[in-house]
Amino acid sequence: MGTRIDNYSYEEGLNKVREFVEQNIPAQIVTINPEMYAQKEKDEYFKQILSEAEMIIPDGIGIKIALKLKGKNISRLPGIDFAKNILKLSVCNNYPVAIIGSKEEVIEKAVQNLRNEIPNINIVYYHNGYFNNNNDIYEELKKTSPKIILVALGSPKQEYFIYEAKKILSPAVMIGIGGSLDVWSGTVKRAPVLYQKLGLEWLYRTINQPERFKRIFPALPLFFIKVLKYKKEN
Ligand code: UDP
Repeated sequence: MGTRIDNYSYEEGLNKVREFVEQNIPAQIVTINPEMYAQKEKDEYFKQILSEAEMIIPDGIGIKIALKLKGKNISRLPGIDFAKNILKLSVCNNYPVAIIGSKEEVIEKAVQNLRNEIPNINIVYYHNGYFNNNNDIYEELKKTSPKIILVALGSPKQEYFIYEAKKILSPAVMIGIGGSLDVWSGTVKRAPVLYQKLGLEWLYRTINQPERFKRIFPALPLFFIKVLKYKKEN
């Protein structure tokens, strides 16, 4: 359906991240879901961002089912878990890290929790996600030269931010992490493991934050209609 999806294991994905850093390749990692497909259809700029992304990983169950319908069995690589693994990798390789996004109290708590959980993590810069001018943040990032940048502004804002950053910052691997800081700060509870195993995190999040319903509806059913149509035609 016009978007490449990288079918990596955690290990392969992390090797790729290491490769990008070691070879000084600016890289954008997108954790794709059906809502992003809907965005791609109506937003040429977003479409271009996806076509140029260095890595696109299958975040949710929607993408897994869609690929299954095409006879491809893939494992999900949830962005929140992959990003945590990237942070652990940063410690082993001494990569400086920056984190942008969420409300001030959320990012502060998340950073504090990450520093407790991952000793020796080198967070050289962090900032909340409520700023007026991207350039102010880019200037700060230029000064601190992180190799890993996590961006939690929600989609598509975080994808726009990273795409622009890729062109002006010194090379870094950047990943959009949506609501991960809310979870890492303890502000929002992650879906219980059973929901995660069944691929029903979206259901748990929608029950707990009903305002999210408008995000998955009508994007999700429309996505599957398109997948089935595509399957019939190809
Ligand atoms: N956010 C932000 N700046 C904005 C809009 C959103 O920092 O201008 C943050 C928000 O506080 C939340 C995250 O972006 O922490 C968005 O999370 P959401 O659950 O919408 O992301 P998803 O995982 O669904 O993409």
